[in-house]
Amino acid sequence: MARKVLTLAEVRDGSLRNVSFEAIAAAKTIAEGGEVVSVLVGDQVQAHANELIYRGADRVVVIEHPNLKFYTSDGYSQALKAVIDKEQPEGIVFGHTALGKDLSPKLAIKLDAGLVSDVVAVEEAGGNIVFTRPIYSGKAFEKKIVTSGIIFATVRPNNIAPLERDESRTGSVEALAVEIKDLRAIVKEVVRKTAEGVDLTEAKVIVAGGRGVKSAEGFKPLKELAEVLGGAVGASRGACDAGYCDYSLQIGQTGKVVTPDLYIACGISGAIQHLAGMSNSKVIVAINKDPEANIFKVADYGIVGDLFEVVPLLTEEFKKLKV
Ligand code: FAD
Repeated sequence: MARKVLTLAEVRDGSLRNVSFEAIAAAKTIAEGGEVVSVLVGDQVQAHANELIYRGADRVVVIEHPNLKFYTSDGYSQALKAVIDKEQPEGIVFGHTALGKDLSPKLAIKLDAGLVSDVVAVEEAGGNIVFTRPIYSGKAFEKKIVTSGIIFATVRPNNIAPLERDESRTGSVEALAVEIKDLRAIVKEVVRKTAEGVDLTEAKVIVAGGRGVKSAEGFKPLKELAEVLGGAVGASRGACDAGYCDYSLQIGQTGKVVTPDLYIACGISGAIQHLAGMSNSKVIVAINKDPEANIFKVADYGIVGDLFEVVPLLTEEFKKLKV
C-alpha cells in the first residue's frame, strides 16, 4: 500500500543533522513506493532543501519564520501541525533526538496517532510495517506494528542506513507560510555548554571515560584519541558526578543513548545504568585494569591494563595509520 510519509529535517549549527537522512530512509520503507515529503523548519533554512532531495526526499516543504530560528515546542508544533493538516500524510518520521522526543508526543496526541518511539529498524513484513525498538534499557527488543491511524515513529540516530547521496535526484521545493503566534517562550540566544565538536548521539566513534580517568586533566588523552579517530568524548555518570566533565557528556539510562560504530570505554566499570546507554554500539572496546569489571561482559575486545598507558599507545598507532 503506497503511503505519503512526512519527515522532519533537523538543522543544527547551519548543517543538516544526519538523522534527517536516516528518517528519509525509514520513510521510504514505510511509504512502500508512495511519496516522501521532508519538512524543513527554521529561519533561512531553504538552502538545505536540495540536499534532502539528493538523500531521497521526493518533495521538500520549507516553513520559515523568525520565531522558528530556535526550537520551541510551541513554535515547531504550530509549524508541523500546519503542514500535516495540509498534506494529510499516512506516516510521519522524526529523529529520536532531544527535539524529536519533545515534539513527537505533543503532535501524536493532537493527531490522535499512536507513536512508536526510539526505532532502530523498520521493515515490511507480511503486509505490515514492522518497527523494532529496544526495551528494558536495551536488554531486549520488541517488534511493533501500527494497526490504525497515522504511522508515527521516531528513529534512533545511527541505526538506519541513509540512502546513497545522488545529485541526479530531482524533486520540488515549496514554501509554506505559517503564522507562528502566541508563543509562551521565545529563545533569544543559545549558549553552548560544551565545546564544538562531533555530536555525541550521531558520532560514529566515541571514547568514553569513567571514574578511572581520575580527574578533568585525565580526560586529555581520551580527547586526543577521539580527535585522531574523528570521534566524540563521552563519560559515565561516575565521571560526571566526580566533576571531571560536564553532564552533557553523560551516557546511560539517565544520560544520552548512543549507538556508534565503535565505543571505547576507558576506566568504566560497566554498571547496568551505563550499559543502558551504550550496549547496542556496534563494536565495544573496554580498557580497565580490573579483569573482573562488568564492562568486559559486553565488550567485543577487552584490554586489561592502565588506561593512562593503553590510550596514548592506541593514539600513536592510529596516528600512524592516518599517515
Ligand atoms: P566506577 O564504578 O567507580 O568504575 C571505575 C572503573 O575504573 C573501575 O572498574 C576501575 O577498575 C577502573 N579503573 C580505575 N583506574 C583505572 C585505570 N588507571 N585504568 C583502567 N581502569 C581503571 N551511570 C552512568 O554511567 N550513566 C547513567 O546514565 C547512570 N544513570 C543512573 C541512574 C540511576 C537511577 C542510578 C542509581 C545510577 C546511575 N548511574 C549511571 C550510576 C551507575 O550506577 C554507576 O555508579 C556509574 O556508572 C559508575 O561509573 P564508573 O564506571 O565511571 O565508576
